[in-house]
Amino acid sequence: MTLPGSPQLAYLGNELFLENCSLAELAQRYGTPLYVYSRSAMLEALAGYQRALAGRDHLICYAMKANSSLAVLQIFAQAGCGFDIVSGGELERALAVGVAASKIVFSGVGKTRAEMRRALEVGVMCFNVESEAELEVLSELAAATGAVAHVSLRVNPDVDAGTHPYISTGLKGNKFGIAHERAVACYERAAALPGLKVAGIDFHIGSQISEAAPYLDALDRMLDLVDAIESHGIAIHHLDLGGGLGITYADETPPSAQALMKTLLTRIDARGHGHRKIMVEPGRSLVGNAGALVSEVLYLKPGTAPHGDPSGAEKNFCIVDAAMNDLMRPALYQAWMNIVACRLSNEPPLLCDVVGPVCESGDWLGHDRSLAVRAGDFIAVLSAGAYGMSMASNYNTRPRAAEMMVAGDQAWVIRDREQVSDLFRGEHLLPLGSRRT
Ligand SMILES: *Cc1c(COP(=O)(O)O)cnc(C)c1O
Repeated sequence: MTLPGSPQLAYLGNELFLENCSLAELAQRYGTPLYVYSRSAMLEALAGYQRALAGRDHLICYAMKANSSLAVLQIFAQAGCGFDIVSGGELERALAVGVAASKIVFSGVGKTRAEMRRALEVGVMCFNVESEAELEVLSELAAATGAVAHVSLRVNPDVDAGTHPYISTGLKGNKFGIAHERAVACYERAAALPGLKVAGIDFHIGSQISEAAPYLDALDRMLDLVDAIESHGIAIHHLDLGGGLGITYADETPPSAQALMKTLLTRIDARGHGHRKIMVEPGRSLVGNAGALVSEVLYLKPGTAPHGDPSGAEKNFCIVDAAMNDLMRPALYQAWMNIVACRLSNEPPLLCDVVGPVCESGDWLGHDRSLAVRAGDFIAVLSAGAYGMSMASNYNTRPRAAEMMVAGDQAWVIRDREQVSDLFRGEHLLPLGSRRT
């Protein structure tokens, strides 16, 4: 039995396997909470983009904020990808896995001078510039060091990606990008400033987008701009279509990466822009369905009908050892993620809220789930490969989870479980003497 959205995940008998590895066995051996990823699932997801772009001048830049663990980056780097980064820290991660700086694009609305200096020093392929003020600062820094910064302006096409407001980025009210009406003037400014060279144009309209229509709207508006910019004598070399393609968490039916890219490339060709280099920046769609978060059931806490409640409503809780600090998506976006038992049992299922130990009512992983589990059993939160570990925190002084990669029947620890002593490092007591209280 396979599970929706997760190509490498299936029950064999009663046991849940990712590729040929039993999740319960990994949890038993390496402890929980435990993130486990499938290398094949990542490479299959990438192959959809690669097939559509084959034969064209292109670069797939994995947006590493979705999952920036070094082994994940290594897989994509070896498969030929570049990276889309949004901070100086992400730049160092990319360099640490040996990717050429000429395959790195630097996005983000708030790049600091220090981050831009470092990116100029290593020679990133392109800065995706998000404001006129950033353009001026970048020019000043580049000119001062004699470097040339290749730039693309992120234009805000003002299209509604139809996604959660927190992950929608292409509307006028968002902080991202340069307003469509200002774009031509900004390109003229960029072309005139010292230290800058116009390379391309980009958009990124949001995340977990489940249809092609908003992309086509954004693309059309971008191609209009390209025509206008080039009529001012400024050459646009590449078109960067951003990321944002959704995955199946529940019953969403986003187009496949290959189908979406085909649709967009057909439009690009039809409008006479097929000669340009095509860039994309997928994050979630490359890693989301490749991972699961495995957790142990600590306690079952049966609900009690409030006194005199005629409906007899009860809330049962399944308290697990993973929490909002390990996987923030439910708390942050009210995201629905599938939760299943790692071993199927014949016991009657319990309708319950799956919650963590953190002292917040927002600390839940799933509401009203039907699970046949007991204390000591393992559950898996599915499609947790994107925006899971990369958003994890130490709230409640909880060490971050360990991470594993599986391929066939092989499994590697790719990040050790954090130790509590790691969390104190860099903290200092006040110099108040040794008086005990
Ligand atoms: C986050 C982000 C992406 C990737 O988004 P996904 O929804 O994970 O595909 C791509 N480009 C930029 C500029 C981003 O900020």
